[in-house]
Amino acid sequence: MYADITRDWLIYIRVYLCPSVVFNFLIVTKNRRTTISNMPNDNTQREFALQVLQQLRDAGYEALWAGGCVRDQLLGRTPQDYDVATSARPEEVQALFGKRRTLAIGAAFGVIAVLGRHKQPPIEVATFRSDGAYVDGRRPAKVVYTTAEEDAERRDFTINGLFYDPIEQQVIDYVEGQQDLQRHRIRAIGDPLARFSEDKLRMLRAVRFATTLGFQIDDPTLDAIHQMAAEVNIVSAERLGAELRRMLVHPQRSSGVQLLQDSGLLQPLFPELANWPEQQPATWQRLLDRLKRLQSESLAAALAALLFDLEQKNNVGEIGRRFRFTNKEIERAAWLVQMLPSIEHAHELAWPRLQRLLVHQGSNELMVIADATWGNDHAGVKECRRRLAMPAEELNPEPLLTGDDLIRHGVTPSPLFGQLLDSIRDEQLLGHLRDRQQAQKFADQWLQDHGDR
Ligand code: ATP
Ligand code: MG
Repeated sequence: MYADITRDWLIYIRVYLCPSVVFNFLIVTKNRRTTISNMPNDNTQREFALQVLQQLRDAGYEALWAGGCVRDQLLGRTPQDYDVATSARPEEVQALFGKRRTLAIGAAFGVIAVLGRHKQPPIEVATFRSDGAYVDGRRPAKVVYTTAEEDAERRDFTINGLFYDPIEQQVIDYVEGQQDLQRHRIRAIGDPLARFSEDKLRMLRAVRFATTLGFQIDDPTLDAIHQMAAEVNIVSAERLGAELRRMLVHPQRSSGVQLLQDSGLLQPLFPELANWPEQQPATWQRLLDRLKRLQSESLAAALAALLFDLEQKNNVGEIGRRFRFTNKEIERAAWLVQMLPSIEHAHELAWPRLQRLLVHQGSNELMVIADATWGNDHAGVKECRRRLAMPAEELNPEPLLTGDDLIRHGVTPSPLFGQLLDSIRDEQLLGHLRDRQQAQKFADQWLQDHGDR
């Protein structure tokens, strides 16, 4: 009987309230508690989070799942990680789980990591807290241990301020987060201006969550970001970079970049692009279209797609370093931006030059951006695809001669050495040299012509 009521509610909610998101919850509401059923329970991390919570409860403490994992479950998504919030003090958490199984990762904020077995990620256990005054627009000077309700209020957005009791299967909602989940709203908890003054990163988090969840930022929250956007750079480059990364690798990155513009965050974060929406609307639209069509999860590809229209291509490195992306990502993004024009003109390029691009490690990403930029009907893109479909031994044949071969052949290493190897390779790719003998003859002639023999 109870199960039937549950099913009726589920059908009601799915069909009538929020057709675009599968909500597996909402049955009986007592005060702020909502019972949930059908939570995904098929992963070991969830089991681990449940054990940690149970152990805290058995020792007489309050304990709840908190934040992102509750939000994600209610949205029918698998949480990336589970956070536990508890009335136990950090030292009590350490005493309960033992020093060897815990790590005081955020001692100043009362966060203890409980370590899992083998390579299982730890569960973060945080004492219910309310943050004291914020000193520098980034973090509180001190924290005060308190109740679950106050702990909800110090969190950033209503959808991130939910708790869940996995034993009673109840959501505990002090901040109207469930309502905002259903309305697809990103809304700051409390006064948005005050909350953004405390921690300016929250402004970029609002854009990141709106992008990745496909939600709208509530008007007063968006207005507050507008007012304070210029201050976002007070936040450390690493924290900004981490949020931007999450946004840029997401398929909805184009909406995210548009939202940076709409919220006023584009100017402080990417001043190089900031006047495009008004002064070069065609470039801006092309950029958004390219980001929308880009089928890649790579940050380097997303960054290259974002920055391809820059006149100063060498700004790519500077922008990548601004957000502390890895050197590998920055180098790859810079290479992609530099090489893309060759794909545009691939059908006019000499084959050896194009071949070097197409056998490069980054060629997949290059082609994905080319597709997003020009579509697969474009002459250059078509030529690349045709070449890439060639059998491997034709696309990238074994070199007829290597550096070692030349040394054995009596050539002394010199600055000309690399040029000679390149020339042999070019002639091979053009089909002018077919075997080692021909290649050696070519090398002798080349050295004579260049005054080395
Ligand atoms: P994700 O799934 O992307 O990790 P998340 O909501 O779990 O999303 P985290 O950065 O892991 O995000 O943070 C965990 C929780 O901590 C959030 O849900 C939110 O309640 C709180 N939180 C994180 N950062 C802030 C912040 N800058 N200000 C206030 N609360 C925050
Ligand atoms: Mg998280």
